[in-house]
Amino acid sequence: MEAVLGAVALLSALALTAASAVPLEPRDPLGGAAGYFWHITDLHLDPTYHLSDDPTKVCNSSRGFPAKHAGPYGAYRCDSPYRLIQSAFQYMKDVFKAGHQPSFMIWTGDSPPHVAVAKLSAKIVINIMHNMTETVKENFKDLQVFPAMGNHDYWPQDQLPVVASEIYNAAADMWKHWLTEDALSTFRKGGFYTQVFNCKITKQTLRIISLNTNLYYSPNKITKKMQDPAGQYEWLEDTLKKAQANKDKVYLIAHVPPGYLPDSLRTTSIRVKDNEKLVTILRKYSGVIVGQFFGHTHRDSMMVLLDEQGNPVNSLFVAPAVTPMKGFLDLVTNNPGIRLFKYSTNDYSLLDFWQYYLNLTEANEEKKPDWKLEYSMTKAYGIKDLNPQSLYNLTNQFLKLHNKEFQKYCYYYIVSYINIVCVGHCKMKQICATRYLDQASYSKCIQEW
Ligand SMILES: [Zn+2]
Ligand SMILES: [Zn+2]
Repeated sequence: MEAVLGAVALLSALALTAASAVPLEPRDPLGGAAGYFWHITDLHLDPTYHLSDDPTKVCNSSRGFPAKHAGPYGAYRCDSPYRLIQSAFQYMKDVFKAGHQPSFMIWTGDSPPHVAVAKLSAKIVINIMHNMTETVKENFKDLQVFPAMGNHDYWPQDQLPVVASEIYNAAADMWKHWLTEDALSTFRKGGFYTQVFNCKITKQTLRIISLNTNLYYSPNKITKKMQDPAGQYEWLEDTLKKAQANKDKVYLIAHVPPGYLPDSLRTTSIRVKDNEKLVTILRKYSGVIVGQFFGHTHRDSMMVLLDEQGNPVNSLFVAPAVTPMKGFLDLVTNNPGIRLFKYSTNDYSLLDFWQYYLNLTEANEEKKPDWKLEYSMTKAYGIKDLNPQSLYNLTNQFLKLHNKEFQKYCYYYIVSYINIVCVGHCKMKQICATRYLDQASYSKCIQEW
C-alpha cells in the first residue's frame, strides 16, 4: 500500500481548486426543511497507477492495453489513482463550506481495482477496502456513512459467501465506527444490515437497508442454486414488514441493481429468477420504500418501478462511478462522478439530486481537478421532484421523437464523456430499462417497440 500512501503525501503539496458555490437551499419548495446526503460508488482504487513512458505500464487495471493520455488524475483505461479519489472528497467537503452539512453518506461498494484474480488476494482486497474506509473517515470525520458491499469487495471477486467470512469480518471491523452492533451481527454473517438514521430535525424514522445483492449476481457460483442465499430474502421481507408496522420510511441501498441493463438487450444485472423475486418484494413494500440507490454499472441511470397495474410506485437511482475505467469490450466509458441528494425532512421523499463530475481530459491537461456541477435532476429535466410519478412522466417525454430531455439523459448516462446519438435499438433498450424491471413487462416493451 506504499504507493497509495505516497500519493497522500503528494497531494498535500498540490493546490486543490475551491469548489464553486452550490445552489443549496435551506428549505424545500413545500415549505418543509430539506436535508442532503452524498452517494458515492465504485471508487475502484488502483494502487499501481503511475505515469510511465510505456502506456501499457501505467496501471495493472488496463490489463496490458495502452492507457493513452494518462495524467495525474487518471486515464480512461485505468481505475482510479488515489489522487483522483482524494480530489473528489476534497470537492465534497468544499461544497458544504457555506455552513450546511450533509446528513449522511451512502457508499455502494467496489473499492478494489479491475485486475486478474491472481493479482489480488483476500489480504490485498481487505487492505484496499481499509484504505478507502480510512480515507472516507479522514475526510468526513463526523459524518454517518452507510456502506454496502460490492462484487469487487471480495476475493475471489464476485464470490461473496452466505456464511461468516474473513472479509465480512474485516469489513465489519472497519465499519464499526458507523454501524451498530445489531447491524454488524447480520453483516458478519451475510454482508447485509439494517440501521436507523438518527435525525434530530424530524420524528419520522428513516431506516436504511443495505442489501447484499452480490449474492444474486450471475457470476456468483456459490449461490447459483440457492433459493434464498444467506436467508436474505426472508430477512428483507421481515425487515420491511416491521418497517411498515412502525410507519418507518426506508432507503434501500445495494451495489448491483435490479432490473435490466440499459445498454444490452434482455440482460438483467442480477440473475433472472432473483430479479423476479426481488422486484416482487419491492412492489409489495413500495409504500414504505421511499428511495433506492445502487452502483455497479458505473453509468448514470434511473428506473421507475411500476406495480402490476402499471402505476409508478418507486424511484430507483443508479449513480455513476468515481473510476473512469473503460473495459476492453466497452465502446464508451464515464467521467468520474459523485452525487448529492436533497430530501424532505418531513417524510424523506427525494426532492432533487445534483450530479457532479470531473472532465478527466481537462483535469489532466490543466493538472488541476476542476470538479463541477454536471446537472441538477429537476432543472435539467423540468420536473418538480424525484417521486415515482415525476420520473414516470419524464420517461413519457423520452418516448417522443428527438426529445431534448432524452438526449440529455444519454449524455449524462456516460457522465458527459462524449456526445452520442441514441436512436432506434439504443433508445429502445434505454427506455424499456427505465420503466420495466420484470421479465414479462420488459419483454413486452421490447416486442412492441
Ligand atoms: Zn464497479
Ligand atoms: Zn460492481
